[in-house]
Amino acid sequence: MLLHLSTWCEIEKRLETSRTVIVPIGSNEQHGPMGLLGTDWLCPEIIAHAAEKEGDLLVAPTFNIGMAQHHLGFPGTISLRPTTFMSAIEDWVDSLARHGFDRIYFLNGHGGNVATIEATFSQIYSHYSYSGNPCPFILKLRNWWDLPGIMRLAAKLYPTGHGSHATPSEIAVTFAAYPDHVKSAPMEPKIAPDGPIRDALDYRSRFPDGRIGSDSSLATIEDGRALIEAAAKGLLDDVAKLEAE
Ligand SMILES: [Zn+2]
Repeated sequence: MLLHLSTWCEIEKRLETSRTVIVPIGSNEQHGPMGLLGTDWLCPEIIAHAAEKEGDLLVAPTFNIGMAQHHLGFPGTISLRPTTFMSAIEDWVDSLARHGFDRIYFLNGHGGNVATIEATFSQIYSHYSYSGNPCPFILKLRNWWDLPGIMRLAAKLYPTGHGSHATPSEIAVTFAAYPDHVKSAPMEPKIAPDGPIRDALDYRSRFPDGRIGSDSSLATIEDGRALIEAAAKGLLDDVAKLEAE
């Protein structure tokens, strides 16, 4: 069930039997010369929507802008400052919690979001801790690549050149879902450099084409299909575990 294609009456009815909601969350940022700008929000959306077709899930609209300050040296990147991102996540959580959702599961597609999302969870929980009131919901963050079996599959598909940004696995997922938007570009060097992440100008000088440690050109539609299938299954298992808590 997709929240944005439902009516309020259908959501009210569903809340009688399930209080779990999945929020795909990501970022709109450069992904090297052949990766789509939407890669980090498309991946969790694609996986959540695939899982929704297989199992009984309610999926919220995708939270598609994240904390990507370090990518702002590349056109097309849109970023929220950490404090703005925290406020926005808090408002999403408060809106969903107000309706009675008690398992709010964020499926994340951007490594740069993790610290801010975790800090937001602490901020939200702290309201209950300081007031002494019980928190009526559980918040969960899962990166899609940390779903059961995905790291192993990615290592098998790409023993070298996986890297950490504009990875062939994330690009493969988007290519499988959007085959009309498959891109190609020369990879120079074939495997991109590694290094620390700081501000946008520093990033662009260290990683001139945007990639970190990866060879994006290894991505194939077929790999993407395998990753989506495995991740969708992993998501259903992970959500079932959270619901059993
Ligand atoms: Zn990414």
